[in-house]
Amino acid sequence: MNKDITTNLPLNLRFEHSESSLRQFFEERLARPVSLVLTGNSTSMLSARIRDGILLVRLHRLFVVVDSGVLDEIVEFLKSRRAAMPRFRKFIRDHREELAKKRPNRVFLVAQGKFHDLRELYDEINARYFGGAVTAAVTWGTSSARGAVRKRTLGSYSERSNTIRINPVLDRRPVPRYYVAFVVYHEMLHAALGISRASGRRSVHSPEFRRREKLFHDYDNAVVWERGR
Ligand SMILES: [Zn+2]
Repeated sequence: MNKDITTNLPLNLRFEHSESSLRQFFEERLARPVSLVLTGNSTSMLSARIRDGILLVRLHRLFVVVDSGVLDEIVEFLKSRRAAMPRFRKFIRDHREELAKKRPNRVFLVAQGKFHDLRELYDEINARYFGGAVTAAVTWGTSSARGAVRKRTLGSYSERSNTIRINPVLDRRPVPRYYVAFVVYHEMLHAALGISRASGRRSVHSPEFRRREKLFHDYDNAVVWERGR
């Protein structure tokens, strides 16, 4: 039996972990091998994937000082990817200023379109698929002179500004909500997974990316609609 080391402590007692003590904690609670990397990457506070039977966890290093309630939520998320994470989200909100340092504040954001509200879609997707861990900003892109050339790029994610831009050609009545949601989800996956550099090559849509993309609940509808567009 794994001894539950945090819930024996008074709730909200904060204590400092090291990378190795956290990893050991996750391994005990999840009963599986874990590889943990603490990052300074505020574009994604928490992400996890499985490779060769090992759960690879990337967690922002702010979380080395965290109370047991937040850690319990992280464990639940790692188990099911479906956990509601109110304390985790509150922790991020409480540290917003520390996390926002990198974000340029001159990006002008317009999430509310004529027909589709990107913020609403983003928040739903973030809660459902990412445990609220994606911190990127989301905005409709501006139509520009280059718009005609760029029409085929429906969305983009800038790592530098941690901003998702969605092509305004999608803000039309005939475009189904699930399709816009799918494009937002795709870009959020970029924010969450980063650019993996497998064998030195830049891989934007890794096999892991494609696997996660298919987890979208309206994936089949989205693909069908895209073909008929
Ligand atoms: Zn992409």
